Amino acid sequence: MGANRHMSVDSRGRYTPEAAGEALPGSEGPAGSRSHNLLSPRRASLMQEPVLVLNATYEPINVTAVRRAMVLMLKGVAQAEEMHNTEVHSAAHAHKVPSVIRLLAYRHIPQQSRALSRKNILLRDRNTCQFCVRVFPSSELTLDHVVPRSRGGRSTWENLVACCYRCNNSKGDRTPEEAGLKLARRPRPFTLHTSRQLMRLIGHRDERWRKYLFY
Ligand SMILES: [Zn+2]
Repeated sequence: MGANRHMSVDSRGRYTPEAAGEALPGSEGPAGSRSHNLLSPRRASLMQEPVLVLNATYEPINVTAVRRAMVLMLKGVAQAEEMHNTEVHSAAHAHKVPSVIRLLAYRHIPQQSRALSRKNILLRDRNTCQFCVRVFPSSELTLDHVVPRSRGGRSTWENLVACCYRCNNSKGDRTPEEAGLKLARRPRPFTLHTSRQLMRLIGHRDERWRKYLFY
């Protein structure tokens, strides 16, 4: 259990949103209508809207999707701190949709693993291939190990960058120097500042997140 997502790879060793279990899409604007039934197409995207997750101490620790947040609430693991003015209806009940939830029991989450995900690396790099410096939609980007794993390169913030498929193919199993490629900039390590910055980028439309993220 736990609200944090860990980086993962598919069977061919590539990073994919599915393998990473990521539920966050590029995300749509706030729901236009105030109510969504089970069959509504809007409901599906609403359930993917980002929810800020706070530790028991109110420290922001993660971003998850509405669907996952509601499961944590139903299990009694978390409670809502802020709600949207929107409801989803199941057979018997109307459920308010959370915007910010808080875990009821304190959970120790290591600084690195808490935020290392494909989604967050793409956010840090602003969806820009770090070799050709062009901006792509998330679906057209992969993660590149700057020092290849075959050379002992690790899956860390300092060794992973957003990379388009074309550059990824031409780089292959080589270092940037060997492939004649240059990094747009040295990948930054994860800090508390990075963490807050990423959550702000994800939640920029949601005013309810502000007081927890200090902006
Ligand atoms: Zn590229």
